[in-house]
Amino acid sequence: MSEVFTFHEGCSPLLVSVPHDGRDLPRDLRGRMTVAGLALGDTDWHVARLYDFVRDLGANLLVARYSRYVVDLNRPADDAALYAGQVATGLCPSSTFAGEAIYEDGPIGPDETARRVCDYWQPYHDKLAATLAALKARHGYALLWDAHSIASVVPRLFDGKLPALNIGTYGGRSCAEPLAAAVTARAARSPYSHVRDGRFQGGFITRRYGEPAKHVHAVQLEIAQRVYMDELSGTYDAQKASQLRDTLRRMLETLIKTATKS
Ligand SMILES: [Zn+2]
Repeated sequence: MSEVFTFHEGCSPLLVSVPHDGRDLPRDLRGRMTVAGLALGDTDWHVARLYDFVRDLGANLLVARYSRYVVDLNRPADDAALYAGQVATGLCPSSTFAGEAIYEDGPIGPDETARRVCDYWQPYHDKLAATLAALKARHGYALLWDAHSIASVVPRLFDGKLPALNIGTYGGRSCAEPLAAAVTARAARSPYSHVRDGRFQGGFITRRYGEPAKHVHAVQLEIAQRVYMDELSGTYDAQKASQLRDTLRRMLETLIKTATKS
């Protein structure tokens, strides 16, 4: 099996994690998947491309290679629910966000789930944890930005149309308040609609690694895909993306600057 992620090492205390833009599928899986599954419709399309500028900020960048349909890196390995009372998308999802079956041969059993956790989930989390520990040792603190995107309208997951920028700090528990407030204020000065800790408060990665008392601050940003791509065709819109990248850069610079001062 090839490496399950790509990693760029930077010199700043910031780690950007991109867990859902992977498109690879193991060969044995591909043959069992439906047309809807193979379309990988729930991918966080182009998020790695959107954030490739973070290398220039000196950030570390961790990008998953395999599809979230193999195993969802932003869910706990025991598959406990992240949002009480909401439709769960599953650690090894058997259906798409739209409710279509991903596999011809039914849901994934516990043995296969355990193998996928071992082969794909664990190495990503080992790298995440080791990088944050190294950043903390070197800088005294670490900043984690978990980068996501989703279709603007997903009736099974949320009502109506999502704001453009959905900042998640697990209700203020994953990140020190001055940092969360500064990032949110920066979003408020951008051309985009935004919300903090709305429908998306941060998934497992944000909740697991954000420990402000231990100087690790985690923020999730869920971007509505309409602001940088054509949601119907899936095409990246370089012009829209350029404006969004400017806002993302300012938000990340604000996070780093505020952390340096505090
Ligand atoms: Zn995502």
